[in-house]
Amino acid sequence: MQGLTSLEDARKTVLDSVRPLGLEKVGLLEALGRVLGEDIIAARDNPPWDNSAMDGFAVRWEDIKQEHAITKPAVLTVIEDVPAGKAATRSVGPGQAIRIMTGAPVPKGADTVVKVEETEPYGDSVRIFKPERRGANIRPQGEDVKKGDCIIAKGTQIRPAEAGMLAILARSFVFVYQRPRVAILSTGDELADLDERFDEDKIVNSNSYGIAAAVQEAGGIPFLLGIARDQPSALKEKIAHGLNADILVLSGGVSMGDYDFTKAVFKELGAEMHFWKLAIRPGQPLAFGRIQHTLAFGLPGNPVSSMVTFEQLVRPAMLKMSGHRSYGRPVVQAAFQEKFSKRPDRRHFLRGILSLEGGVLKVRTTGEQGSGILTSMVKANGLIDVPEHVERLNPGDTVDVQVLSGQFWAR
Ligand code: AMP
Ligand code: MG
Repeated sequence: MQGLTSLEDARKTVLDSVRPLGLEKVGLLEALGRVLGEDIIAARDNPPWDNSAMDGFAVRWEDIKQEHAITKPAVLTVIEDVPAGKAATRSVGPGQAIRIMTGAPVPKGADTVVKVEETEPYGDSVRIFKPERRGANIRPQGEDVKKGDCIIAKGTQIRPAEAGMLAILARSFVFVYQRPRVAILSTGDELADLDERFDEDKIVNSNSYGIAAAVQEAGGIPFLLGIARDQPSALKEKIAHGLNADILVLSGGVSMGDYDFTKAVFKELGAEMHFWKLAIRPGQPLAFGRIQHTLAFGLPGNPVSSMVTFEQLVRPAMLKMSGHRSYGRPVVQAAFQEKFSKRPDRRHFLRGILSLEGGVLKVRTTGEQGSGILTSMVKANGLIDVPEHVERLNPGDTVDVQVLSGQFWAR
């Protein structure tokens, strides 16, 4: 449709104007969810030496390889008993064995470990009832990690597995990308904040809280700037407080109404501005640009529109700033369960409920899809992405769904 900007173009403009933030050093316990700002190179092998996978006896395979082990067990002299955390002082010679614990270094001379369950004490010796294969029950040096290899790449988000690996590599501190600081401002004379007494004719400012939570969920640090009244001077003053942040997110006042000043004030305060009528629904009008060093987004005021446009544009910008290498939610394909029709002009994001039924991923809408119906977001675990050109959907049609929460997998 003429005059409307596609979401792809808008996303490209946003992402092209974002650079990853600088790095900071954090302790391993604070690193969960952060994005690594350095390649993690192994300074040594893991395991650092060949070690035993079992409690048992380190032996020479030559000595135990006989075929009729059960009726004619090998008998080996036990020359040392090595407790956990210690290494053997002697090496295993012909006819000898050393008793070792799981994880202990394999003594020199030995090439095989026999589990304690396959043996029986026999005076100062041990009887071995199983002809193990050569090398059995030994975890070779470097089987997990080889010295010099890049084990975790820069740009990886730290999960419990990475945290454990960092500990193995003796990294108690790591460099991660800084978290984006996001200032949040709501606009509108009709709004009242949670901590105010207000009349029945006011609307509670919900956007600031929904957006702040979305910022936190995306790994950022939110700051609430409160509510700006619908006057250019009030708006300018509040915005000025947000210009230390990496990102400023306003909601409301971006339409063409008499009290919609966001676009004009953005222009007065800064240089390059982009103002779009996005070819999406919900969330048509959107202002975006850079004011000094801060990326400024003017999102539509309707609660659902502000959340959906945050998802599509602000979140990707935050993820890029945070050092991530991909900026979208996971997208799955699911079988649509309803009938739906629209004009072939804009891309729609229907709030959807994903479910896994008999191994098939299905999705239905949350019901009424008005942009003021925030319960549609409350019920949703996905956004059904209906492309511009599509006019109708029928039950069973395959649709793309942006996954907002993975709960539906849990059964
Ligand atoms: P606007 O874009 O300013 O015309 O606002 C569109 C609609 O969204 C109006 O009904 C507003 O009352 C509502 N709205 C705007 N800002 C907020 C907010 N912070 N919290 C809840 N509703 C809002
Ligand atoms: Mg308004």
